[in-house]
Amino acid sequence: MFADRAKIILRSGKGGDGHISFRREKYVPNGGPDGGDGGKGGDVIMEIDPGLNQLSDYRHRRKFSATDGEEGGKKRCHGKNGTDLVLKVPEGTVVKDEKTGKVIADLSGDNKRIVILRGGNGGLGNMHFATSTMQAPKYAKPGGDAVEAEVILELKLLADVGLVGFPNVGKSTLLSRVSNASPEIANYHFTTLSPFLGVVDVEGGGFVMADIPGLIEGAANGVGLGFEFLRHIERTRVLLHITDGASVEGRDPVADIKAINAELKQYDEELLKKPQFIVLNKMDAAEDGGAAITTRIKEAFPDTPVYSISAVTGEGVNELIYDVNKLLLSMPKESIVYESEYDPMEASLSEEPVTCYRNDSGEFVAEGPKLLKMLGYTNLDSEKGFLFFQRFMEEQGIIDEFKRLGLKEGDTVRLYDLVFEYME
Ligand code: GDP
Ligand code: MG
Repeated sequence: MFADRAKIILRSGKGGDGHISFRREKYVPNGGPDGGDGGKGGDVIMEIDPGLNQLSDYRHRRKFSATDGEEGGKKRCHGKNGTDLVLKVPEGTVVKDEKTGKVIADLSGDNKRIVILRGGNGGLGNMHFATSTMQAPKYAKPGGDAVEAEVILELKLLADVGLVGFPNVGKSTLLSRVSNASPEIANYHFTTLSPFLGVVDVEGGGFVMADIPGLIEGAANGVGLGFEFLRHIERTRVLLHITDGASVEGRDPVADIKAINAELKQYDEELLKKPQFIVLNKMDAAEDGGAAITTRIKEAFPDTPVYSISAVTGEGVNELIYDVNKLLLSMPKESIVYESEYDPMEASLSEEPVTCYRNDSGEFVAEGPKLLKMLGYTNLDSEKGFLFFQRFMEEQGIIDEFKRLGLKEGDTVRLYDLVFEYME
């Protein structure tokens, strides 16, 4: 089946930790610190691949990760950077936060490549932390944390014109007649459950037309596919109602158009603001040359332009395409690109709480990305820095939580690489 939606988990790379080591040279008993920096974790990037037209790469795998940065080494060795993960997606892919449904990024228009998650920075090695009073620092910065995000990918086609209509009215036939697309044409239902795009060449213009199937196929049969395809209409600028004007299968064009407009309205009322054309197709097969149905349609929809065509013989098709093109040229050429409203990087920092517990050796341990970040920013070798950090721990409620767990003077507190005795 055509894949235009996927739910995946992304993870950026963790930054490599800074290294703690000391120079060892012959005849030099106490060498200075020479621990190198950790490598940066890989980013998660999304990039448009013009060769793709669906999200099938993301249907069968759940998790996509960039690689971690490596730890720094002795002799000032810089750890290797993690590799970025570049995910190729078709143009028109919208990335949303799974929980809130908010847009993280829209890969369309000028947004051809977007960094979705940044990798953690590499931690500084202990070679950076020597001071006049602390010549042998046993502290290095830990690497920045990896960030994880569960996201929804949604493909929303970018087409100027959308063909809507019940199955078998001739949408695919029309698209293949006027464009370079070659959709499946058949007179049985459930054939094409994938939208097709075609470029329509017109002198002094040209536009992209999408055959949007499944509208009614699924809905009418309770399969629940109806809405799945409506999202492709969101970014079209003009809608063509294709109907069977000859009622070859006994369909009534008036009822069909009303049913489809009702479905559009239910999905999003904004869709009804798009200009519409009514197309009576199969007029080669209409008994009275289509006189009766044309009158009825014009009475029912007096404000909508009506065209009689035959997608098979080509009759009336040029006039229709010409007028659609003219309307498009008169409309503002704004492309609908969704603004980003959510940054998983920011969310990851504010959400994650600090966890406090007592380990098997009776040490009081606190962990959490925020804490890790703060540790990385504070020079704990200076008394000032240490006091600052203590205040941070109090503000975060870490000390209170430790006391609740039984912390008293002289107990050992462990925060990642930082270990000290607690003093009131
Ligand atoms: P879709 O389901 O709307 O895409 O419809 P198709 O394009 O697959 O066409 C369904 C059937 O109607 C096919 O057998 C077509 O050959 C036939 N058809 C399409 N357009 C016309 C037309 O203008 N005149 C006639 N007589 N048959 C047509
Ligand atoms: Mg079709």
